[in-house]
Amino acid sequence: MIKTNGIEDVSYLKRSTITMTIYAYQTWPELEERLKTTKTVLFPVGSVEQHGHHIGVGADYIQADAIAHRVGEKCGALVLPTLCYGVSGHHKEFTGTLTLSTETYTQLVYEILESLARYGVKRVVFMNGHGGNNTGLTLAAKRARDDFGMLCAICTWWDILHNEKVLGHPAEQHAGYAETSFTLASKPEAVRMDLASCMATKQLDTDIQLTRAGLARYKNGMVRIPLQTADVTDVGSMTEAHPDDYPSVYDYSRVTPEFAEALMEKVVDWMCSFMKDFDEMKYPEWSIRRP
Ligand SMILES: [Zn+2]
Repeated sequence: MIKTNGIEDVSYLKRSTITMTIYAYQTWPELEERLKTTKTVLFPVGSVEQHGHHIGVGADYIQADAIAHRVGEKCGALVLPTLCYGVSGHHKEFTGTLTLSTETYTQLVYEILESLARYGVKRVVFMNGHGGNNTGLTLAAKRARDDFGMLCAICTWWDILHNEKVLGHPAEQHAGYAETSFTLASKPEAVRMDLASCMATKQLDTDIQLTRAGLARYKNGMVRIPLQTADVTDVGSMTEAHPDDYPSVYDYSRVTPEFAEALMEKVVDWMCSFMKDFDEMKYPEWSIRRP
């Protein structure tokens, strides 16, 4: 090691601003100082579940982790350690899916929120990579609001992209164009582009039109029919729309690293902007009128 005046140069150990946004790298006195001025933290959560023939089972936590850490790097958000496991029982017929029950998940998330509240954290933004977690996150957030006044926001990339098509398809597809892009931009080694496909939702009836494992169209209305993913797809990926709207696709040639990177950055920018506005959002005050 280089020595100046007999003193060992340890400047290589100095921490970059980037590492200072990673909760797990801080000591407790550093966190104590940081949390005096940090009201809102970012909590990436995902799942371990099948993603068709072409994306690794860690996809949902891999994406959430990557998005959150980019948000930390770009706008200084304090990023909690990623919760990799989620609620994926509806995928369990496909090998490799590891799941918690909604009850366990809710309690687990609630206890982390409770821990954060102990040290002064007032608001939590979830970067959630998996739709099956939404019920548990919502239940935990409601309890945290009731018990210690914490406000939470649950963000997913498909909600953020809800009003736009991704290469002509809805963002919310299991292992579809958008999800393949996010995994590619996060961990290219978790994607097998040569095997990429997205299957149309399998149908069980001519009048009840399944649009995905939990939702169907009937006449002009929608109805929720909780099914397993294996009920509506044989390979695991699915377009999450009726085949009349979106048939199976096998052409992923436009999902390039450049395309994936641009989609990722769009969501990261949205998150940076949202984190700031959510931090500044007025805490709700009740003025319930009585007759
Ligand atoms: Zn996923």
